Amino acid sequence: MQDFNRRDMLVRSLALGALASVYGVLSACNSAPRRARGPGLVGTPIPENPAPAAGHAGTRPIARGPAGPSGLPTGVIPRTRWARYGPDPSLADPMRGIDKITVHHDGMPPQVLRGPDACAAQIEIIRRGHRGNGWADIGYHYIVDPDGRVWEGRPISLQGAHVKDQNPHNLGILVLGNFEEQQPTPQALASLDRFVSAQMHQYRIPLNRVFTHQELAPTACPGRNLQRYMERTRARGGPLASA
Ligand SMILES: [Zn+2]
Repeated sequence: MQDFNRRDMLVRSLALGALASVYGVLSACNSAPRRARGPGLVGTPIPENPAPAAGHAGTRPIARGPAGPSGLPTGVIPRTRWARYGPDPSLADPMRGIDKITVHHDGMPPQVLRGPDACAAQIEIIRRGHRGNGWADIGYHYIVDPDGRVWEGRPISLQGAHVKDQNPHNLGILVLGNFEEQQPTPQALASLDRFVSAQMHQYRIPLNRVFTHQELAPTACPGRNLQRYMERTRARGGPLASA
């Protein structure tokens, strides 16, 4: 429960309201802290946007610029668009290959995100929450927003932090929203189908290796409405099965 408590403190500090603690317990996507690499690394909240420290490369600011990291899938918005800081690689293991995909929601109090700036800000809030857990970075590798944009999260060179004990070789995809409460937008679902299909082809992942969080661990994530859609899209004749 420590993770929930830390998350709750953070969410309250972001003035999202007391309801957040309820949602945090009921439907948040709380993923797994990685193993500690040294005393105090896990369990000690990391200050927000910590100042770069000499000799510690993980929290350096990343430059904003037109050129994203090379190798991103077509159309994916690079993290330089939303994050002021890169991941701390000393807190993450290398990915070393991808053999499954897991889909999540954020499970935060429902809200309507209008436009790319609001989505970028929401992704940064999630990154800060995950950093506050003592994690290297936002836990997911890609984020799909309600308008269907796909954003780069944690670099795929690094193992994610999104399913407890099942992060190795697991590509984490977050759909922004709380799908216990909200319906995913048609644009988000179409984009999710396209993007997951492209990743399946890229990494030769069969359909039966595309999971939702609750299929791998006891959680409400990705919420009943997205869970229902994921079951439909993977079923015979469904959009993802037919892609
Ligand atoms: Zn999840």
